[in-house]
Parts: sequence; structure tokens; C-alpha cells
Amino acid sequence: MRRPPQGVALLGSTGSIGRSAPRVLARHPDRFRVAALTAHSNAEELAAQVAALHPDYIGLVSDGYAVHPGWHVGTESIVEAATLPEVDVVINAIVGAAGLRATLAALEAGKRVALANKESLVVAGTLAESAAARGGGEIVPVDSEHSAILQCIGSRPVTEVRRLIITASGGPFRTWPLERLREAQREDALNHPTWSMGPKITVDSATLVNKALEVIEAHFLFGLPFDRIDVVVHPQSIVHSMVEFVDGSVVAQLGVPTMELPILYALTHPERIGDDGVSPFDPVASSPLTFEPVRHDAFPALALGVEAGRRGGAAPAVFNAANEQAVALFLAGAINFHDISSAIASALSALHAAPGDDLEALLAADAAARQHVKDLFAC
Ligand code: NAD
Ligand code: MG
Repeated sequence: MRRPPQGVALLGSTGSIGRSAPRVLARHPDRFRVAALTAHSNAEELAAQVAALHPDYIGLVSDGYAVHPGWHVGTESIVEAATLPEVDVVINAIVGAAGLRATLAALEAGKRVALANKESLVVAGTLAESAAARGGGEIVPVDSEHSAILQCIGSRPVTEVRRLIITASGGPFRTWPLERLREAQREDALNHPTWSMGPKITVDSATLVNKALEVIEAHFLFGLPFDRIDVVVHPQSIVHSMVEFVDGSVVAQLGVPTMELPILYALTHPERIGDDGVSPFDPVASSPLTFEPVRHDAFPALALGVEAGRRGGAAPAVFNAANEQAVALFLAGAINFHDISSAIASALSALHAAPGDDLEALLAADAAARQHVKDLFAC
């Protein structure tokens, strides 16, 4: 018997991942239907998506915009959308810690969360695990590296995994000497060599904060300690990550750099379904594939983030929030590129004793870190 299409809630529908997801969904109308859409403030684009996708539920987080009849306005709309009975899968494509409540609520309500919003797991990985255990929900990563690792591990038990090797493009400043890096401008940081993404994650890729977030994300998704998660720079972004097994064999996942592939896999895992939306992989055209060590002197934020992950408690939430605040200031032209990692280091040492036992404590640590960074630059 044919199954009815699964209901999908797409949170953050006007962003980079949010715009890619409908292209994937549109190729599989027999499998998926858009049940809910939410956006932050781009009411015009949301209205165009509503006209094309006919969701049952429409949410706009910010008020003060021209709202259409029947739309739900306010922060609560993302949680409502994520927990609707007709929703089976929640694609969380919100940027930043703002996506956390929706992830927790969806897991608690037994949904599959196709997670692009890695900040959820960084801020509250332990709470996400317990919400999933209580409610029966599951996280399947959209992040390309974690999708790769999931595919490499397949059905093998985690006891057979020795090490995860997460690849990093190195960002636009991969080869910049330290002196030149001090002059890096907003436009330079936004000029990513291999991926086209939203502004926050693009800056995170330039500082390598994104890789720190991904190491913490991998720790929670795959249950490995931090000393068994390595990062290697791979400028071509073709090998999306690798898994070394206990017998020394290494399995890698490759493909053209498009988020449509991990979005589709997050929807269908562990199944694969036919899809011809992505151009075929050409190994010769993709050559050469090269690997380099991380330049920790140029990109100190990676080690800061991994250390925060090791410390646990509220430290990852402080790392994330300090970064979000610093990136907002950098994008507004208020601080320099290297101020981002200094601000994170300062927040981590000032708030090293912040408690992280429950959601309230984590949100308090998040707010304190943002305030610390604002005070640092007198903003
Ligand atoms: P983006 O800035 O392009 O879009 C983010 C969307 O989130 C916005 O369009 C908006 O609708 C929504 N949003 C913003 N603030 C919000 C708030 N306070 N409340 C509710 N909704 C809000 O970002 P993006 O590049 O699509 O990234 C989204 C997430 O996916 C991030 O966590 C990022 O790290 C992750 N990710 C992105 C890519 C990529 O290729 N873009 C790849 C891997 C992971
Ligand atoms: Mg990634």
C-alpha cells in the first residue's frame, strides 16, 4: 500500500538552507508535502513560498511586518510549527541559538529533526539527547560533514569506530599570512571559496568557529570523545568527511558541494531514493583532492571551541553566544576580524563558572556571554 506523503515543517524557510530544501521536496511530491513554513522577518519571500507550497501553517517570528490573514506571528510560532500533529519531519534551518527551542520541542514530540541548526546541539546537546529519549524523536544531520559520517558509519556499531576526521574547506583566509589577516575586511570574510551560505555561517567558516561547532555537534551525534574527533583542511570540499574504523580502514564520503544531497539524505535516511537534481560527480574534474593541517595560530577559535566542548556544562553555550554576538558586530562593521576570536576567549574565561545544568541556566549563560561581548566593545 502506498504511504501518504510525510508532513514537513521547514523552519527558517527564507535562508540559504531554507531555500534549498523546497527544491529537494518539489522533486518528491509522492514522499513529502510542506505542512508548515516559518521565517524570521522576510514576509515578502515567505508569501511567495506560501503561494508555491501551500502549507497548512505559516509562522513569522518578527512582528511589525505586513502579515497575511491566517499567519501566526511571534517566537512561539516556530515551536508550534515544529510540533503540529501533521508534521513528521522538521527541517530546522534557523540560524543560531534561536533554533534551540524548536529542536527540543520537536524531539520531545517524537519528530525526526533534519538538523541544519547545529547551534542547537552545541548549546544544549545533553538536553536534546534527553528530549529525544523522552519523546521518541531523532536527529538526522543536514550538515554535510555529519551526513557524510552518518553515511560512512552505516549500520556499524560505534564501538568499531576509532576516529572521525572532519574536513574543513579552510575558508577564504586559508592561505593568508598572519599580517594580512589583521587587515581582513567583511567582504573578504563573506567571499567563501566553495560554499554559498548565509552570512553568519560564512563568517564562522572564515574563523573556523564553524569547525569547532561541528566537532561539538559530532561529539553529541555520534557519541565519541573529543580526542577521537580530528579536523583536516581539504580546500576542494569534495570529501565531506571520513571515518577511521578500529581495523585501520578509512571510509570517506564524496560528492559535489551542494546542500541538496545532505538535505535529501536527512529526509530519507537510512533509505536512499532516486534523485537526479544534482549534477553527476566527475572525479577527474574534481581533481586534485588535497589535505592540509589546520593553522591553529591563524585560527585560534577552533581550539577554543573544542576546549569549550571538552569542558562541557555551559561552556559550549558561552562559546556559541559570544561568537554570535561578535559576528553580528563584525558584520555591522563595529569590530575587526581578529576581534571575533579574542571576544570568544574573553567570554570563556570570564564566564568559566557559569552553571549549565538545565535550559534556564544555559539560556542565562547565553545571555551573559552576549552581554560580555557587547561590554567588551562598549556597544
Ligand atoms: P541564513 O542566515 O541564510 O538563514 C537563516 C534563517 O533563519 C533566516 O532566513 C530566517 O528565516 C531564520 N531566522 C533567523 N533568525 C531567526 C530567529 N531569531 N528566529 C527564528 N528564525 C530565525 O542561514 P543558513 O546559511 O541557511 O544557515 C542556517 C543553519 O544551517 C545554520 O545553523 C547554519 O550553521 C546551518 N548550515 C548551513 C549551511 C549552508 O549551506 N547554508 C550548511 C550547513 C549548515
Ligand atoms: Mg558543515
